[in-house]
Amino acid sequence: MTDLTSLTLAEARKGLADKTFSSLELTDAHLSAIEAARVLNAFVMETPDQARAMAREADAKITKGDAGPLAGIPLGIKDLFATKGVRTTACSKILGNFVPTYESTVTSQLWRDGAVMLGKLNNDEFAMGSANETSCFGPVGNPWRREGSNTTLVPGGSSGGSASAVAALLCMGATATDTGGSIRQPAAFTATVGIKPTYGRCSRWGIVAFASSLDQAGPIARSVRDAAMLLRSMAGHDPKDTTSVDIAVPDYEAAIGKSVKGMKIGIPREYRLDGMPAEIEKLWEAGAKWLKTAGAELVEVSLPHTKYALPAYYIVAPAEASSNLARYDGVRYGLREQGKTIIEQYENTRAGGFGAEVRRRVMIGTYVLSAGYYDAYYLRAQKVRTLIKKDFEDCFARGVDAILTPATPSAAFGIGEKGGADPVEMYLNDIFTVTVNMAGLPGIAVPAGKDAQGLPLGLQLIGRPFEEETLFSLGEVIEQAAGRFTPARWW
Ligand code: GLN
Repeated sequence: MTDLTSLTLAEARKGLADKTFSSLELTDAHLSAIEAARVLNAFVMETPDQARAMAREADAKITKGDAGPLAGIPLGIKDLFATKGVRTTACSKILGNFVPTYESTVTSQLWRDGAVMLGKLNNDEFAMGSANETSCFGPVGNPWRREGSNTTLVPGGSSGGSASAVAALLCMGATATDTGGSIRQPAAFTATVGIKPTYGRCSRWGIVAFASSLDQAGPIARSVRDAAMLLRSMAGHDPKDTTSVDIAVPDYEAAIGKSVKGMKIGIPREYRLDGMPAEIEKLWEAGAKWLKTAGAELVEVSLPHTKYALPAYYIVAPAEASSNLARYDGVRYGLREQGKTIIEQYENTRAGGFGAEVRRRVMIGTYVLSAGYYDAYYLRAQKVRTLIKKDFEDCFARGVDAILTPATPSAAFGIGEKGGADPVEMYLNDIFTVTVNMAGLPGIAVPAGKDAQGLPLGLQLIGRPFEEETLFSLGEVIEQAAGRFTPARWW
């Protein structure tokens, strides 16, 4: 029998249905893989007992013939999703040993459809970061290494644990969240597929909030089809999230293999950055050629406000974060540091509980929202956001079906290599991804090639609102042309 952990989700579904193996066997294979890969630090909490219980239940349902679409499939859950009875920390000391008494809507839908929870995955503290280096549980290792080197690289962030675990065959798929690129950038760094759906497609209920007008959940998986299968279960209207949209969830998998003939693909001029590595440029061209060969039409488009997206994002996101994180006061959740007065208690708790990057964001956010600066920063950033959104709308109004860009400006880098002296160096990782969150659009990252050092690189496709299906169809064309990439095991 093939190694059960190297199956795609679609292959595992077939094996389970055919009774080639049981969910318990599949789950046990993954639990052993997780144990053997602890050096990657992808999981911050393993839940083997719960996993086996869920697997047995799935096996019983498969036998009875009433299995859900994800019955028996072992998944990892980003530690930003509240899981009932299982510690949820957003990888922040301030949440301490917080154990939710409720389940996030997205995860409850995965369990409804039969999936099995293997445990909780590492991420940047409160999802703030691009390298998974701000987690209170320490950094995550990328299963990929540069050829001939044993330097451990970052898996990207903030969903670094999700991407690393999926790439290292520790789980068949994972939940992730994306506020400015946290699904797509780690996917690109690990040769996995990640989709950030349209804002409002997945419920945010029960997900620790970072910047509520940008946050969106989505899957990271090993193939485009697997991502489509996961998103179908994760998406859907939820009255508990007023920003969730009441549109029926399509069968995303049906979009796989659908012809892309005649589709108009925009190549945005402004994404051709000065000093962009030649191999990124080459990858982008290769992607365009593959889509053209499949029958799509390429058109140059302009998104003139692109250069303002990153600065505007780093005002809007911290502003919302500073407000969302006000609730961590040492009274309601987790950590409490004593003080002589209630004010001192708040101060001590927040100073001791938040890491440096989170404190920086809270300070920036508070500053840009304060009287006297509000108009100059926050209000202006919101106006820029409207213009960014309009750039995309103009493009789609010209008949463009999707936009092709690189997913990241470079491949994965070493732990501690970036952002030490200058946080902006780290923020620049999000240059191709933040625009999509600012505009609320869906975006998918698909592995498309490798750099000269053998590290994976990804391409991004941006779609019209609620047209994730188009992204799955186009993404699969790239996947077919580029092939799939697996890291050599060193752990
Ligand atoms: N890297 C970006 C940030 O640090 C985006 C993070 C995210 O998408 N959660 O804000």
